[in-house]
Amino acid sequence: MPEKTGKEMHQLIADLFPICRSITGNGVRQTLRRIAQDIPLQVHEVPSGTKVFDWTVPREWNVQDAYVRNSAGEKVIDFHRSNLHLLHYSTPIRQTISLNELKQHLFSIPEHPEWIPYRTSYYKENWGFCLSHNDLQQLEDGEYEVVIDSTLTDGHLTYGECFLPGESMEEVLIYTHVCHPSMGNDNLSGISLAVHLAETMTHVSHTYSYRFLFCPGTIGSITWLARNEESLTKIKHGLVLTGLGDSGSVTYKRSRRGNAEIDRAMTHLLKYSSQRHTIIDFFPYGYDERQFCSPGFNLPVGCFMRTPHGQYPEYHTSADNLDFVKPESLAQAYELCLSLFDILEQNRMYLNTNPKCEPQLGRRGLYRTVAGQQEKQSRELIMLWVLNLSDGCHTLLDIAERASIPFHEIQAAALALMEHGLLKEVTKAGGTSREKEYGL
Ligand SMILES: [Zn+2]
Repeated sequence: MPEKTGKEMHQLIADLFPICRSITGNGVRQTLRRIAQDIPLQVHEVPSGTKVFDWTVPREWNVQDAYVRNSAGEKVIDFHRSNLHLLHYSTPIRQTISLNELKQHLFSIPEHPEWIPYRTSYYKENWGFCLSHNDLQQLEDGEYEVVIDSTLTDGHLTYGECFLPGESMEEVLIYTHVCHPSMGNDNLSGISLAVHLAETMTHVSHTYSYRFLFCPGTIGSITWLARNEESLTKIKHGLVLTGLGDSGSVTYKRSRRGNAEIDRAMTHLLKYSSQRHTIIDFFPYGYDERQFCSPGFNLPVGCFMRTPHGQYPEYHTSADNLDFVKPESLAQAYELCLSLFDILEQNRMYLNTNPKCEPQLGRRGLYRTVAGQQEKQSRELIMLWVLNLSDGCHTLLDIAERASIPFHEIQAAALALMEHGLLKEVTKAGGTSREKEYGL
């Protein structure tokens, strides 16, 4: 099953790879149309010029063609060979210029002479081309015809939203950016993971509502927050997904709060997983968690990734390609996210119905009679932890953390104790509180 999922996730990345995405334009629409084949998706269009907090939705950028031709008529740089060749948001130009003038607008990576860099100029009008350093060095003196057939005009910013209602109005928010052109890890791995998680969650019952957002980086999250400011209190847990297909170990970046339930659930999950992992504190740089965790919102939104951006040489280059993303890395990230959702869904609070001294567990057949002595002791200890801390103030995750026992074992014990009437449920995930019922 994980192998199949990994392959399917990689296939979606391959399907989306050729599309020229940017923060606005038809590439985003085309991407969302493909996503909508797999999950229910509402597409929103926000007009250029719309004020969103301190920002303004930019003009829409689309490209028909872009190339540089030498005096012999050969295309030495061609957007149709790789959409990374064009500085994204390049303004239109049709001009013949000298090599020296052209070089002012060329970008390459001397340390990796075969790779094409990815560069953008969203908020400053400019034009340019990116190419391998080897190709740059082969350009001979002479005149070059530069053609960028792009449009930068009033249009829209496009984003997609997949909302899966649960029993509760309270939400788990999953966010991924959709603004990078042909790169596998940065951008497409997050998209593919979010699509597969959403697809899975459409088939399982869940208490929380789940909202999957597919927006351009920075301006997309700012736009979404500006348009949904009134309902942000519904967000109980959030995760930005990015860069999950490389071979590095997983990294979780805590929310600004540092001790939000999602921070604790992910820390707990990774502690008991067999995965090498790193947990890092929030810092105000990185991906869209910056906007969700800005002080005016301070939402419980962390960031889940593998090697952090900028810490792998392939980042923002043509080497972040389909070979760089591994089906097994994608499948592992998918499994971890589903386990995380499971903890969030099952993290309930119970009340011990027999709080004065310990109840007699043996009499109720709560030990497996065939269990070995060691197993019996550990099962007993887990039940005693659950009974002792189920005072209406501790969730199952609180108990798992304090007892240093994996969450699913604590949860299994709680269910067994419930069946024997030794526990009552106080709250469900999603905050469906039953406190009044129990007079707490
Ligand atoms: Zn990026």
